[in-house]
Amino acid sequence: MKKTPFISRQLAEAIDAKIPTPFYVYDEAGIVRNIENIKSAFSWNSGFKEYFAVKATPNPFILKLMKENGLGVDCSSLTELMLAEAAGFSGDDIMFSSNETPAEDYVLADRLGAIVNLDDITHVDFFDSLCGLKETMSLRYNPGGVFTVSNSIMDNPQDAKYGMTGDQIFEAVKIMMDRGVKHFGIHSFLVSNTVTNDYYPMLARQLFDLAAKISEKTGAHIAFVNLSGGVGIPYLPDQDANDIFAIGDGVRKVYEEVFIPRGMGDVAIYTEMGRYVMGPYGALVTKAIHEKHIYKEYIGVDACAVNLMRPAMYGSYHHVTVLGKEDEPCTCTYDIVGGLCENNDKFAIDRKLPKIEKGDYLFIHDAGAHGFSMGYNYNGKLRSAEVMVHPDQSFDMIRRAETPKDYFATFDFSGFNLG
Ligand SMILES: *Cc1c(COP(=O)(O)O)cnc(C)c1O
Repeated sequence: MKKTPFISRQLAEAIDAKIPTPFYVYDEAGIVRNIENIKSAFSWNSGFKEYFAVKATPNPFILKLMKENGLGVDCSSLTELMLAEAAGFSGDDIMFSSNETPAEDYVLADRLGAIVNLDDITHVDFFDSLCGLKETMSLRYNPGGVFTVSNSIMDNPQDAKYGMTGDQIFEAVKIMMDRGVKHFGIHSFLVSNTVTNDYYPMLARQLFDLAAKISEKTGAHIAFVNLSGGVGIPYLPDQDANDIFAIGDGVRKVYEEVFIPRGMGDVAIYTEMGRYVMGPYGALVTKAIHEKHIYKEYIGVDACAVNLMRPAMYGSYHHVTVLGKEDEPCTCTYDIVGGLCENNDKFAIDRKLPKIEKGDYLFIHDAGAHGFSMGYNYNGKLRSAEVMVHPDQSFDMIRRAETPKDYFATFDFSGFNLG
């Protein structure tokens, strides 16, 4: 799939004049279009709801946009719950899918009326003693073994820390029914960033079979199945994107095979996609500030791995476009690097690009999810601003850049001599 930036060089210059690089940009029109497609792909299920995974892009303006477009939110920590509350979410518009959960997180989730998804059987008692079990509760399942799609191993659930075994799920349901829980949800997240239309349908088969068995053996009412996240995006230009309509249709077929004949046609389908909702609709914009010619050709930019750590952490590919040079031939081979004292601080290695001049804007694609949010402060580097680009190409800053004062905010400098 050809990668096209959603802003022009002119717009980058206009933003830079007010909000200096580096900054994140988000494409409001793209986000809204994508959400419409997701909702329409699952519209065959009347209870369908996408709970946007807050950890992908934890910004209240983004969450407000999700709310305006009818999504819920999936939170996994105290501060994510606080953000959700600030953006106006409450009750069953919040899914709380955490693990190794501190008590105060459960207490806030409960005060907000969130649906609580328990990661372990020991959390039945833990949550019950803190908050009391609710009428509707969710359980996270880990099937163990290996998870294969089309005969290729995608991941090893047996090595994953999440969820309960099948036996524990049955035991938990029985205990919880005895204590008054009436409606159950089943949740599982087995593979991250899948670029295949088969992942959700394969996962759905496992979860629907389990849900049907639980209903049959215990009489419990299954209110929803939560397919969680894991639907990926094509980071590489030669990869094909997932087809959300094929995915929705694949899940529908399994639903009609497993649930409809058993009279379970009221089970709602939930998802908790983060990457698929936001990934392609955010980018890191950074300026070329140096060039260096040693054993390789380097372009030094004003962003670094603290602003986007996926390449440094996972060796991930992020496509780079030099704004204004979209149609120029890629005659140069560069390493695009930030200024950390770490040699993995490279946004691109041996990348073919048009000739880059100092002052050029580099648009680093597909950073809308798990981009800014994974940022850190190594080397005392600061987090960037975030900018929403509206459908009419006007823009708003939705988070200012950090300043040294923010970086030093947790020190008490009294008795020191700071500026
Ligand atoms: C991270 C996470 C998600 C979102 O995953 P994506 O791959 O970004 O869609 C959803 N649910 C849970 C519980 C998660 O931890």
